[in-house]
Amino acid sequence: MNEKKLTRWTIEEMACPKCGQRKKIKKYQVINVSEKPRMKEDILKNNVFFFRCDNCNLAAPLTYPCVYIDRKKKLAILMTPEIEDESKKLLHSLGDLSGYKKRLTDNINDLKEKIMIYDNHMDDRAIELMKIEYIRQLKKEMEDDELMNILFDYSGHDMYFMLFFEKKGIGRVPINQEFYRQSEIRFINFLKPGFNEDFEKIDLEWAGNIVFKRN
Ligand SMILES: [Zn+2]
Repeated sequence: MNEKKLTRWTIEEMACPKCGQRKKIKKYQVINVSEKPRMKEDILKNNVFFFRCDNCNLAAPLTYPCVYIDRKKKLAILMTPEIEDESKKLLHSLGDLSGYKKRLTDNINDLKEKIMIYDNHMDDRAIELMKIEYIRQLKKEMEDDELMNILFDYSGHDMYFMLFFEKKGIGRVPINQEFYRQSEIRFINFLKPGFNEDFEKIDLEWAGNIVFKRN
């Protein structure tokens, strides 16, 4: 396996944002799940990008530049709060990534969502485009409430969208497999260029730009 793409980390000391207690944490610059398969589960279970304080029990997401690499799926996801020198240097250090699907996220939930989408052999672009359709159908629920987030999730063979409403709380709607296939076909021209040179942020905003430009 290419050495540049192997899992690497540094040990850093950080202070709890709540009580100030210092703790040594492992910060990953690269997580290669083809090399360390168990780390995928660790990310999904919030064991990796999370700060847990031994003193005040604070548990909070910890976002810093890191690249998730799945060599078998040819997937590389850069998670970074913002594109800065550190993340640029990090990408440069990985060497050649041609042939990889490259994605950009700025938070852990979106990283986890992409991992789950690709584990189900689906395309995140089709999923984001589907979200627009689902949101259209939620008009009534949104009359006196606000949809804060919508995320792909699954359990066994059942796939659904988790809906996070400001007042109503969390709900979920099943994903219709036939509808997914239709979405894939409907937007096939957009989905065709499978490989992008740059790390692309595939999210609702991306999907909205495509849908509303077309209509
Ligand atoms: Zn603390």
